[in-house]
Amino acid sequence: MYPRLLIDTKKVEHNAKTMVEMADKYGIDIAGVTKVFCAQENIVKAFVNGGVKYLADSRIENMILLQEFSLKKIFLRLPMLSQIDDVVKYSDISLNSEIEVIKVLSDSALKQKKVHSIILMIDLGDLREGIYYDDEIFSTVEEILNLKGIKLLGIGTNLTCYGAVIPDATNLGRLISIGHEIENRFKIKLEIISGGNSSSVHLLEKESLHGINNLRLGESIVLGTETAYGKRIEGTFDDCFILEVEVIEVKNKPSKPTGKIGLDAFGNVPEYVDSGIRKRVICAIGKQDIDDENIIPVDPRIIILGGSSDHLIIDTTDSDKDYKPGDIIRFKLKYSSLLRAMTSKFVKKVFV
Ligand SMILES: *Cc1c(COP(=O)(O)O)cnc(C)c1O
Repeated sequence: MYPRLLIDTKKVEHNAKTMVEMADKYGIDIAGVTKVFCAQENIVKAFVNGGVKYLADSRIENMILLQEFSLKKIFLRLPMLSQIDDVVKYSDISLNSEIEVIKVLSDSALKQKKVHSIILMIDLGDLREGIYYDDEIFSTVEEILNLKGIKLLGIGTNLTCYGAVIPDATNLGRLISIGHEIENRFKIKLEIISGGNSSSVHLLEKESLHGINNLRLGESIVLGTETAYGKRIEGTFDDCFILEVEVIEVKNKPSKPTGKIGLDAFGNVPEYVDSGIRKRVICAIGKQDIDDENIIPVDPRIIILGGSSDHLIIDTTDSDKDYKPGDIIRFKLKYSSLLRAMTSKFVKKVFV
């Protein structure tokens, strides 16, 4: 049955262990982020065996799947007011930036006879979630400390996901000093200073993470890449996941479409380079299941041309292999493709 995703959990476990050990040298704990693989049980086990301290996810449906694991769970996306009871029920810690929401979390926690921990998110310039201005940070902390159902466990930030701002000594330095200021002003101890996601991994070799004691890592564990510069992480595997797709058409055709060009299936105006007659192969997978700009053919002579909802079109003219319908072609995946392939019910998951 194709398309299918071959998943090597031993390699995932090795990667998790590598990241945990790398971070441990600097006194940093790892929260293993499971959203990119929809918290699939066998892969979560590999994270746990690899030694992550927390499990973290952004979707309640995935948090429910994580319940069978005893590690503390972190809810990553700012909670929706409409899901507060579930956030308190299924997570021990959530990331937050809105005092109105935190108050409702407190009420829900008291109702459920719990204390819910939060990490207050600070926006250091990437312009996704978090409080941006100092005044609001300190006034929010003051209000949080009056809530009976909430424990302020620490502060955190998220960088590079929206604004592509790279974590460095300056922005993370600000997070660390905000932490000190909170501790001094309010005479409390913050247990967690969470310095971001896989885009902070490049700092693990440097002094600039001193003062950070937590990172939330997904991509670096499953794909073996840090995400500030897109570099491979030494000692990790980049082929924990291999996508296999089946060829359904092989034909020599011109490289430029014939006729007047309008909008493609996704509303874009495509542009084409004329490189003459080429051997074009169609594979039975599409944009519903992968992001065709973010897959890497294992056969390096294959060129990816593009695709539509259900089709992937590649150029195999330069390949040594003479592809035929029914042949299987393999790809490594980048983040957006792994996310879609794991989410798509049309891609079979096979554990090797
Ligand atoms: C997805 C996410 C992460 C993990 O990001 P990776 O790049 O996969 O390491 C960390 N923190 C938050 C808030 C997230 O949403």
